[in-house]
Parts: sequence; structure tokens; C-alpha cells
Amino acid sequence: MGENEYDVIIIGAGPAGLTAGIYLGRAKLRTVILEAMTPGGQALFSERIENYPGFPEGITGRELAERMVKQAEAVGTEIKTLCPVERVRLEDGAKVVEATGGPYRSKALIIATGAQASKLEVPGEGRYMGQGVSVCAMCDGAFFREKVVAVVGGGDSAVEDAFYLSRMASKVYLIHRRDKLRAQKILQERLFEQKNVVPIWKTVVKEIKGDETGVKALLLERVDTGEIKELPVDGIFVAIGRRPATEPFREVVELDEGGYVVTDESCATSTPGIFAAGDVRRKSVRQVSTAVGDGAIAAYSAELYLERSKG
Ligand code: NAP
Repeated sequence: MGENEYDVIIIGAGPAGLTAGIYLGRAKLRTVILEAMTPGGQALFSERIENYPGFPEGITGRELAERMVKQAEAVGTEIKTLCPVERVRLEDGAKVVEATGGPYRSKALIIATGAQASKLEVPGEGRYMGQGVSVCAMCDGAFFREKVVAVVGGGDSAVEDAFYLSRMASKVYLIHRRDKLRAQKILQERLFEQKNVVPIWKTVVKEIKGDETGVKALLLERVDTGEIKELPVDGIFVAIGRRPATEPFREVVELDEGGYVVTDESCATSTPGIFAAGDVRRKSVRQVSTAVGDGAIAAYSAELYLERSKG
């Protein structure tokens, strides 16, 4: 095999990609993981992961990622960081990945590029990410017990997040830019039965303010009157949609209307030999534990594909 030729190329070093790397390394297949940034994926933004089995005291996303990287490298899987993928194309059944230092070629490919939470793009959001700003209520909600939080958004995610948080926070503001939610009615009804949930309509967040200890307040603007006010909060959950990172694969696999990769139960895509694992694929629960499960399934399916295509 040439220097840039592999049995399997995995794109993305989040929990799904790293798990696939661990399984494929153990299967003695020549495997590389191409990662645009540093390993860890969305888990890096979690202050502490407390729902991943095996860590009763919780673990930071960074530490969990570091442990997974060590485990993948120990079984011979290569990890190339700062290696963004531009495009994937097919050439006589081979998968050709155009990326920094490439092109790379393989017989099987696993897409594990994840989905990034959309950001508000306001001052303070980046500064306080993980210090009061979160994009995952299920991951970080428990840090806000008896505290005041805000959720931004009007879709199913925002309403579900606000409901989830209402059971632990003392007060939950739901901030939406219109006066009508797009979330399912049944979810809305369930949410507004909670006494500690307060909607704030026709309002956008202009700035997230805080100090060295974290978030302290939000600067809000009424979209109809332009009125500005400051709202004291301990945390803010941004739930304004997600964007799967699937642009480079648009031409080679089927995507759904939201841009997620369509797969079957074995993580197989519409193209033989290409699999998808983790948040990037169409699925209902996006958690580290489900990404890890996908990674194992995709690796197993890729191994099976390689064995069958041999004979
Ligand atoms: P979504 O349905 O796209 O809703 C995004 C919400 O954020 C919208 O209310 C939108 O406002 C608001 N928004 C977008 N950009 C904004 C910005 N820059 N500033 C302020 N607000 C902004 O996203 P989602 O709630 O994550 O749901 C994604 C998909 O997953 C949907 O198909 C949803 O049905 C599905 N989902 C289903 C469930 C479930 O069935 N239990 C749970 C979660 C998600 P506008 O309304 O004004 O556009």
C-alpha cells in the first residue's frame, strides 16, 4: 500500500470516529482518522460529561477525548489533525479524499464529522462557552441546579431543553425572536405547565455578559420596539438548530432535507463502502454514548464490507 493508501479512512475524530478507529486498529486494518481541528468533537464543549457510563464522578470532554485518542493510537490507528477534508469522490470503487497532505485513498470510508450547534454569534458567546454558555441541556443542565437559566430558540430542541432544565433550575426563561413557537404543540403544552418557565417573546440576545466566574446577565433587545434590557442569569442554553458537516460528501451519499447522512441500522449509506457514524447521520438521540455505539457499528460494517469485497 502507498503512503496515502488505507483500508479505511475515517473523517472526524469525535467520539464516533475515535471509537471506529479503536475497533479498526484492533482488527489490524490500516486506518487513518482525518480531523479538521483537534480530536474530541462537540464533546470538547461539555464542561463535564456525567451521563457517559464508567465515570461516576463525570469527566471533561477534553479528558475523555484524550483517553480515546490514546486508545486508538495504541492499536495503530493514525490520526492526522488540522486536516480539513474538502471533497470525497469515487474512482473505480475506491474512495478518494481530498484533504491537506492528500489525496488519500481507501476501500472503505466512515463519515464521522458530527453536527455543529448553530451559534448566536453575539459578544460573550465564545468567551463564556463552557462557563455558563452551553449548547447541550442534557449534558450541562445538572450544573444549574437551583439556578436561573435562559434557553434561546423556538423549535423542538429549545422547548425540550427548557422542559428538561425546568426540573432542576429554579427559573427558566425561554427567549424566542417571534411570538409563536415552531415546536410541536404537545411539547409546548407540557413546557408551559411548569410554573418556573417564563417565555420572553419577540426578543433576541445582543450580548452575553459575565466575569471571571462565568455568565452573569444577558443583554436583550425587543425586535418590535427596539427596547434594550439586561436580564440576570447564571447560564444560557443556545438551541437554535444544528448544521451537520456534510458539504464534502454531498455528491457521494444521500443526505436528508436537513443535510444529515441517511443510513440503515448498520450505519451503511446509499453508497457501498461508505458508512456514517455519530451526530452526522440521521438519528434521534445525539449523545457521546450513542456516537460511540455508532462508531463500533460502522467499524464492524466496514470490516465486513472489506472481507466480502475480497472474496
Ligand atoms: P429548528 O426546528 O430549526 O428550530 C430552530 C429555532 O431557533 C427556531 O425557532 C428559530 O426561530 C430559532 N432561531 C434560528 N436562528 C436563530 C437566531 N440566530 N437567533 C434566535 N433564534 C434563532 O431546530 P431544532 O429545534 O434544533 O430542531 C431541529 C430538527 O430536529 C427539527 O426537525 C425538529 O423537529 C427535530 N427535533 C425533534 C425533537 C422531537 O421530536 N422530540 C426534538 C428535537 C429536535 P424561528 O422559529 O423564528 O425560525
